Formats: sequence, structure tokens, C-alpha cells
Amino acid sequence: MPEQSCLFCSIAAKDAVAEIVYEDEQLIAIRDINPQAPVHVLLIPRDHDLESLNDASSLDNKLLGQLLYVAAKVANQLGIAETGYRVVINTGEAAGQTVPHLHVHLLGGRSLAWPPG
Ligand code: 5GP
Ligand code: ZN
Repeated sequence: MPEQSCLFCSIAAKDAVAEIVYEDEQLIAIRDINPQAPVHVLLIPRDHDLESLNDASSLDNKLLGQLLYVAAKVANQLGIAETGYRVVINTGEAAGQTVPHLHVHLLGGRSLAWPPG
């Protein structure tokens, strides 16, 4: 069920505008509004069930697998698969999570430093 006043639920329901690069039954992939790399995509489950990775159980294995599989697919679609990319799930305040609806960042198109800040 869409959660009222959740930004990513609104985007998934197309009540809020975003540039969609991929969608399927389980998730939607959009361009980040404040990109941190030439390619910065957010992969967002359609359902609000998981506010962060902390809420995941083994029942979510299929969704979690799909998020990673689609990250690689979109990386290929947007031309960064060969040069390299990073997939990130910020979980909780100290990691910088700002939207409490599980999402995966796909970043690429430039060299990415390690360790991250
Ligand atoms: P977090 O910090 O929770 O890991 O990631 C949230 C991301 O959502 C941030 O990278 C932020 O730029 C992005 N974001 C916030 N508001 C919007 C919006 O309205 N549209 C889009 N496309 N991205 C957003
Ligand atoms: Zn939501």
C-alpha cells in the first residue's frame, strides 16, 4: 500500500514527477534529482513495505535480488557497465539515509573514490 506523504510512494504511483529509466512489476528506476555522478539512478520498490534494509526478511529475497539484477541491467542500458559503477544502499541516519522507503543508488560515469565519505 502506498504510504501517505512518502515521496517515493508518490513517484512510484506517478503522483510526483521523475525521469523514469526502467520499471517493472516490483520496482521503478528514476534519475536522482541531485546527481552525485554523471549517472545517478535510484531503484525503488513500488511497495513501501521496507523502510530500510533493516526491515528485510527472507521473504524479501526475491525483491532484493531483483533490485541488484536491475541495477546491473540499467548500468548496461545507460552505458556504464564496462567502465564501472557502484551500487549503494544507505541504511539509517549515520549512513545518510534521508528517505525512509528502501532504495538502491546506482552511480557511475566517473571514477569513484574508496573508501566513501
Ligand atoms: P538517501 O539519502 O535516502 O540514501 O537517498 C535519497 C535520494 O533521493 C537522494 O540522493 C536525493 O537526491 C533523492 N531525492 C530526494 N528528493 C527527490 C525527488 O523529488 N526526486 C528525485 N528524483 N530524487 C530525489
Ligand atoms: Zn514509500
